[in-house]
Amino acid sequence: MPTISVLQDITKYAKAKNAVLVAISKTKTVDDIQQIYNAGQRIFGENKVQELVQKYELLPKDIQWHMVGNLQSNKVKYIAPFIQLIHSVDSLKLAIEINKQALKLNRVIDILLEIHIAAETNKSGFSEDELIDHLDINAFNSLQNIRIVGLMGMATNTKSQVLIKNEFSGLKQYFDKIKQQYFSKSDEFSILSMGMSGDYQLALEEGSTMIRIGSAIFGEREIKKNPNIPI
Ligand SMILES: *Cc1c(COP(=O)(O)O)cnc(C)c1O
Repeated sequence: MPTISVLQDITKYAKAKNAVLVAISKTKTVDDIQQIYNAGQRIFGENKVQELVQKYELLPKDIQWHMVGNLQSNKVKYIAPFIQLIHSVDSLKLAIEINKQALKLNRVIDILLEIHIAAETNKSGFSEDELIDHLDINAFNSLQNIRIVGLMGMATNTKSQVLIKNEFSGLKQYFDKIKQQYFSKSDEFSILSMGMSGDYQLALEEGSTMIRIGSAIFGEREIKKNPNIPI
């Protein structure tokens, strides 16, 4: 069951910090999403292509859909026509495929580059050095149909507030450095997507501009296929 008062509280909190709230609706029903929509939320995120496409088809067309999960190159074509922002671009290969599909549709797709900041190795993303290597050789420059609008990161699933805080502040520092060195001429490179239900307050303190909130708004998800074991 979604909780409207929590949605309102987090919306206010994010606004006060000049951040955008993405409601992560994965595994939740169309009815649940409609309730949150009716309360005013327009940006929703999903992590599976098939689920995202189904929900896009069933729900109001003024919803801005974000993809936040692991995205296989061969599935990009299904979301390319309508996706507003892809948070989880974790390889050059994927960026090339998004560009290819966007070009076919004669549109430009906004993406975030995902950076691996967590201690868990099962989380995806570029390492900080790997992304710099790509940027140094202008690997993305020929991709005219994607727009790199910022970075995304997921902190370690841990009770240690200190560890989470360090990961977020490290990502913010890295974001500032990348922006200055490689994106100083592009105003659109402005989004730092970090913070989920358990750690969004810390993320906002450390400079997040976009938080991705699922369970706090929608309630716990029932099936956890890939449980992150807390460390
Ligand atoms: C599920 C998910 C979220 C939301 O997680 P909650 O802890 O439920 O807020 C945020 N970001 C990504 C990438 C996710 O997969």
